[in-house]
Amino acid sequence: MSFTNLGLSKPILKAIEDQGYTSPSPIQAQAIPLVLEGKDVLAGAQTGTGKTAGFTLPILELMMHKSLKRQKLKTRALILTPTRELAAQVHQNVVDYSKYLPFTSAVIFGGVGINPQKAKLKNGVDILVATPGRLLDLIGQDALDLSNVEFFVLDEADRMLDMGFIHDIKKVLKMLPSDKQSLLFSATFSTSIKKLADSLLDSPTLIEVAKRNTSAQTISQKVHFVDKGRKKELLVHLIKRDNWHQVLVFTRTKHGANKLTQHLEIEGIKAAAIHGNKSQGARTKALADFKANAIQVLVATDIAARGIDIDQLPHVINFELPNVPEDYVHRIGRTGRAGNEGVALSLVCVDEHEFLNDIEKLIKKDIEKEEIPGYEVDPTIKPEPKKKQGGNRGRGGRGNGGGQGRRNNGQSTRNNSRNSRGRA
Ligand code: AMP
Repeated sequence: MSFTNLGLSKPILKAIEDQGYTSPSPIQAQAIPLVLEGKDVLAGAQTGTGKTAGFTLPILELMMHKSLKRQKLKTRALILTPTRELAAQVHQNVVDYSKYLPFTSAVIFGGVGINPQKAKLKNGVDILVATPGRLLDLIGQDALDLSNVEFFVLDEADRMLDMGFIHDIKKVLKMLPSDKQSLLFSATFSTSIKKLADSLLDSPTLIEVAKRNTSAQTISQKVHFVDKGRKKELLVHLIKRDNWHQVLVFTRTKHGANKLTQHLEIEGIKAAAIHGNKSQGARTKALADFKANAIQVLVATDIAARGIDIDQLPHVINFELPNVPEDYVHRIGRTGRAGNEGVALSLVCVDEHEFLNDIEKLIKKDIEKEEIPGYEVDPTIKPEPKKKQGGNRGRGGRGNGGGQGRRNNGQSTRNNSRNSRGRA
């Protein structure tokens, strides 16, 4: 299959060629013809599948043909993404793919000054990539008008709900005209995603490239049981022993990410943390340093890591298991991409056995367990009683993303801890 068979025009084909893409990825081969037919699409695809081109290319094609009279301040295509990093990345793709077309575009997200964004929007842009909070702020300040939107994309919708953006999304939806083409991309399909899809999409066609909630076959997964107090030591041991580079390490909290980063630095391992309390500049720099191999380890929280696009990332380590099993699938999806073998390790202490059970149930497989000599667990250490966590609430809490049955009385504690996750 080649891009030329998909119904795309020369300026777009040339831009694709400039990117070095030779053939469409499976999500592109499925999505592009459907979008060109004008269909609403519900797509199951993770980052790394080429989904961005899957929606951007056909939208550009349709925009070329529907040459509407441009109205000042009015946006024709709106792409909503959950995180700043993803917004920036998607916008860069829009710029790359539309380089031979006359369209204007902009990206807006929080954490940076609003005035330059307002200035950019002053004369309107054809294509806008945005995170929901800043978009609503700008609408509130009359800086843009969505009443002319012809194409609406909700990217990584599951993550949007995880981050508590459902109310913001609903507000945005109310401002869009009913006569538009909508595309919803999500890595997983929970009940709440289906509900959102029902409210947004008009007789959508469902396409899926990765099997739902299963982890890629090219990822070798392993669990190392270890005492909580020795995780840092074990991590340093593994990184040094095997001389790993480009290691993405996940922690559950921002504070945990900072502490671990400091520890790695003390141990002589170049590391940086990436989470929601870091400025946009610091996040961008950390990511660039990591991509350029200037730092060995990037320590990230789930939400901050979302949308990170690094090809062939060799190692993903769960320093702590996520308390939401779907996050495990997202995390390890950073490795083993595009057919490359990746390694995903989880350091699991006695407090996390239940999380591990939930994950194995979700991915429908037992993860290989291996004890590292010298780091055997101390059988006298008992699980810590679960504490209620308070404060640091996410916007409206998580959506009902998990849908996993709970087997024991850990339920109320776990749900509390879910809802207490801040916007990492
Ligand atoms: P995405 O899933 O949209 O974040 O894309 C993941 C990566 O794949 C990005 O670096 C894209 O530039 C790249 N990509 C997208 N489509 C193709 C293609 N057809 N061939 C090769 N690489 C691609």
